[in-house]
Amino acid sequence: MSSNSFQLAVMPGDGIGQEVMEAAVAVLDAVEARHDFSFSKSYVSGGSRQYKETGVAMTEDAFEAAEKADAILFGAMGLPDIRHPDGTEPAPQLDLRFRMGLYAGLRPIRAIPGVPLALASPRAREIDFALVRESTEGLFASRGKGTVEDDTVAKDTMVITRGVTERVSRFSFDLAKRRSERRNRKGVVTLVDKSNAFLSFAFMRKVFFEVAGRQADVEARQHSIDAMALDLIRKPWEFDVLLTENMFGDILSDLGAGLVGGMGFAPSADIGDEHALFQPCHGSAPDIAGKGIANPVAMILSAAMMLDWLAVRHGSSRLSEAAEEIETAIDAAFGAGAVKSFDIGGQDGTSAIARAVIEKIKNP
Ligand code: ATP
Repeated sequence: MSSNSFQLAVMPGDGIGQEVMEAAVAVLDAVEARHDFSFSKSYVSGGSRQYKETGVAMTEDAFEAAEKADAILFGAMGLPDIRHPDGTEPAPQLDLRFRMGLYAGLRPIRAIPGVPLALASPRAREIDFALVRESTEGLFASRGKGTVEDDTVAKDTMVITRGVTERVSRFSFDLAKRRSERRNRKGVVTLVDKSNAFLSFAFMRKVFFEVAGRQADVEARQHSIDAMALDLIRKPWEFDVLLTENMFGDILSDLGAGLVGGMGFAPSADIGDEHALFQPCHGSAPDIAGKGIANPVAMILSAAMMLDWLAVRHGSSRLSEAAEEIETAIDAAFGAGAVKSFDIGGQDGTSAIARAVIEKIKNP
């Protein structure tokens, strides 16, 4: 592909994944029409519904199509009633993370104008931090490998490696550097761990500070997970980049979403050295699927993160401008009260929100 033409694997998946993907693709089409880059999209099927119908949640061909693409846009996969015989849910998104080495789970948490916040403090409007969840090891290294002995003892093992910790630490410092240029202040990466109690976290902390020692212009700090649970309620506006082990990141990212309006406003990216997948933090939300009321903002912001990642990777300022256009359009649509989604007590459904965002892109 030429430098301004990109191949996207589009995986809508289950439940509201289908609905929010349709909205995000319409928004991408709108920015594509204003710039000289283009996307060729191949739709790739997969998910729990497919597992129920065919016995396979994601085929080998589908994995290969994802691996070949320049980027992957992912809706949501998984339905609570459809399970493997051992009780676990099919989760191709986790398989993709491990197969493609997507070690950095990036979850930006930002207060969007016009969206009600959980905290009463006026400073909550300043919330703008990025959580980096290590996504290929930690406690999740034990996924599918845990044991139950004699129906009396269950064990899952946490794994922290030097290689992945170094890479995800470097990723976090690079991210802080880029954010500091945009925010005009020194970047700070805070490692969130439990190094006072566990050897694995003490090792993670040691490797993190080794990497930090080679970073002149970003500050490195450490915070215990329990203290962070407190401080993300007391003063979340003080944080910049937070780096965590996989399981802690899983939990803190939902807490973060709760701070800024809920799952409908929380985008994410799973990034490796060669591949990246962009998906909302939320799941397939079967309770609201098929009603046209899902909030597509998390999916649309995930598509903007994809543009930003492609921009850095391919050195294209046009792509980063387009990412910014999408963010600005969402802020404008919600900030001006042009739309209010159902999850924050409004009456605007998935397609109404997509239309309002597209309108702001066309007429900024
Ligand atoms: P998973 O474990 O697959 O991530 P989950 O079980 O945590 O999923 P979600 O599917 O994310 O659950 O849904 C959690 C709640 O948030 C549900 O009540 C759902 O309706 C709501 N929700 C999730 N996403 C959205 C959205 N985009 N718009 C509105 N409500 C949403």
